[in-house]
Amino acid sequence: MFKKILVANRGEIALRIQRACRELGVKAVMVYSEADKEAKYVKLAEEAVCIGPAASPLSYLNMPAIISAAEVTDAEAIHPGYGFLSENADFAERVEKSGFQFIGPTPESIRIMGDKVSAKQAMIRAGVPCVPGSEGELPDDPAQIRRIAKSVGYPVIIKAAGGGGGRGMRVVHTEAALINAVQMTKAEAGAAFGNPAVYMEKFLQNPRHVEIQILADKYKNAVYLGERDCSMQRRHQKVIEEAPAPGIPRKLIEKIGERCVAACKKIGYRGAGTFEFLYENGEFYFIEMNTRVQVEHPVTEWITGVDIVKTQIMVAAGEKLPFTQRDIQIRGHAIECRVNAEDAFKFTPSPGRITSWHMPGGPGVRVDSHAYNNYFVPPNYDSMIGKIIVHGDTREQALARMQTALAETVIEGISTNIPLHRELMVDAKFMSGGTNIHYLEHWLSQHKR
Ligand code: ADP
Repeated sequence: MFKKILVANRGEIALRIQRACRELGVKAVMVYSEADKEAKYVKLAEEAVCIGPAASPLSYLNMPAIISAAEVTDAEAIHPGYGFLSENADFAERVEKSGFQFIGPTPESIRIMGDKVSAKQAMIRAGVPCVPGSEGELPDDPAQIRRIAKSVGYPVIIKAAGGGGGRGMRVVHTEAALINAVQMTKAEAGAAFGNPAVYMEKFLQNPRHVEIQILADKYKNAVYLGERDCSMQRRHQKVIEEAPAPGIPRKLIEKIGERCVAACKKIGYRGAGTFEFLYENGEFYFIEMNTRVQVEHPVTEWITGVDIVKTQIMVAAGEKLPFTQRDIQIRGHAIECRVNAEDAFKFTPSPGRITSWHMPGGPGVRVDSHAYNNYFVPPNYDSMIGKIIVHGDTREQALARMQTALAETVIEGISTNIPLHRELMVDAKFMSGGTNIHYLEHWLSQHKR
């Protein structure tokens, strides 16, 4: 096992990794920007290094600053968390070239999966079902593009090969709008992701977002840890996640989980990863793979009893997966609400000083947050300030526990989306389970204030 790890991230995930390190008896070096001096994990750190000013390009995205922080503190490995440099293959390569272990897959795996066109091609080869669409990148010739769209069938969605974070996508309903939409998406993709390549998929009308968590070691052992339903989204961003996904037959999950495991073995994948699917009319369609730990990993940890972050560190250190597929049993139901510093219904960001902070507790309640009473939420980063996760023997019990947990939660001084979560947890449709990816947006348009 490593003696010391550098945590190259911020916010709740930095604290989560610090906790995993403590349990493993590994020292964690925290890095922070000038805006994050006050964060809980920095105050709790045995060692912390300031890597630059608030602006992330100068700190959390600053590769030389992060690598030299690892050098001066004698860390052996770097955990990238999620976001920032976590899916940057060049960073993973530089980390390894500098003599550190990158806690994640190989740069090559990140590169293949980071390009959605090559990821889809790899999945098709590995027998994972994908959304029907263009075979790879769209050509330039308008006549050919029209032909492809016709055979896929309208509506179609044009997606950037290098896209992420819900950006770089455009839905097209008619042939008249097609060529213009392709050109606009290409231009945006070039500007935003430095890669103008786009591809086409059939636009599924009412799918759910269901994803499979996997863990793999360097010795081609891999397991899937069941699925998560992340259909409650706003602007393609997840708001509530749960596991298992309500109403999907276990047999179907097993079949798709086994395909994901086979794909991991085929591409020599190591570490934690997520295969994201759209699920419609009883069928799974792969959309992309995330090659890192995800925000919503706690719901899976709770229903499987597996510590995903600890396992990431163990397999990066060269250990074998400590369990096989047969050891993975699903127990009960877990739900996560992302707590954002924003107006609950208008979504305007609400950074600032927290003047009162009371987190829920009791059986089956977990809170992952770097914030605390009198903490200042900096305006420079993502608005998520923590997560409330609950577990119950059944979905009904989990819902009841989340309702109680949200009722106990008090955050003052800034606005948060807790009032939105309180309403969603008693919404009849959400409570009955299985809402699709458009449900939350639709609900919001009906509950304007
Ligand atoms: P990103 O990497 O930006 O998150 P994804 O490919 O994972 O992009 O897609 C994000 C979201 O966009 C999905 O969860 C879904 O809501 C929607 N989406 C993507 N592809 C399709 C599709 N073919 N049909 C319908 N919705 C889609």
